[in-house]
Amino acid sequence: MKEGFTRYMKNHQVHWWIFIIPHLFPYEIIQYSMDYSEFEERIKNVSAFSEVFIVGYSLLSQPIYAAHVGSYTGKQLIVQSAIHAREYVTGLLGVELTEYYAGFSFAGGIYFIYNSNPDGIRLVLDGSSWVGCQKLRDYLLSVNGSLDFSLYKANANAVDLNTNFDAKWGGGAQNVRCPASESFIGYYPMSEREVNALASFTNTVKPYATISYHTKGQVIYYGFDGQNENSLARDDAIAYRLSAVTGYTPVLTAQSTGGYKDWCIEKFDIPSFTIEVGGASLAHPIGENALPTLFEQNRNVPLTLLE
Ligand SMILES: [Zn+2]
Repeated sequence: MKEGFTRYMKNHQVHWWIFIIPHLFPYEIIQYSMDYSEFEERIKNVSAFSEVFIVGYSLLSQPIYAAHVGSYTGKQLIVQSAIHAREYVTGLLGVELTEYYAGFSFAGGIYFIYNSNPDGIRLVLDGSSWVGCQKLRDYLLSVNGSLDFSLYKANANAVDLNTNFDAKWGGGAQNVRCPASESFIGYYPMSEREVNALASFTNTVKPYATISYHTKGQVIYYGFDGQNENSLARDDAIAYRLSAVTGYTPVLTAQSTGGYKDWCIEKFDIPSFTIEVGGASLAHPIGENALPTLFEQNRNVPLTLLE
């Protein structure tokens, strides 16, 4: 048996280091996917640096978590992550940024929202077996078309939350008008519980600017249809400054509506950006092995907005 194995290795030119290297660098070579309780635990660990609080609940009553770092006076920034379920790595990026910004003093403050779409993220990480109601579980399985939810973007109502905001709702080129794993705008604007939680939190904070983290493509979307010229010029300039610190490409938004960023621009006329992290060649869902790179590229984003 042992001889046979040695001969097999020789014949197939398999070298000993193929077996050794994964043990030396287990986390770089072997990828594993976390489950939702581990994801939630990572968010709760933020309490070592800042108090974690709940901004609202999902359709299935799971908490949407947030934390604040810096001062409560001066410019306040909202950094919102993972409104699209399969883009949950952006929530972990928020956790890393929280730890980083808790480590030094700067002017103003930052609110991080880590899991804007808890039910969707849990479907991606755990599948559908945790959904208590059999009828809803069957509905989600039929919408998704498979037991594998790893590419799912919507919430547990099969609504794409980032198309459900009341900002030229229904005017997007990719909009879908029937429940789907992505792009379904809902039956009317602001119909979703998660969307209302984000909106009322934003109304309360009245932020100076917002960032929405998505994957992927290394692109910074700015501007919105109907935005006034002065604000657009302001956001164009900021997008190019963000591009300088991230290396990402600024792109003027076109034919996309109903997003959190769109709503912030239309309702508050504040600088709001959607940042798509992760190289275009990476496969969805981008795993946490990409985090060190994403953190390096994005660590100066909040500071650039607060300058
Ligand atoms: Zn997205």
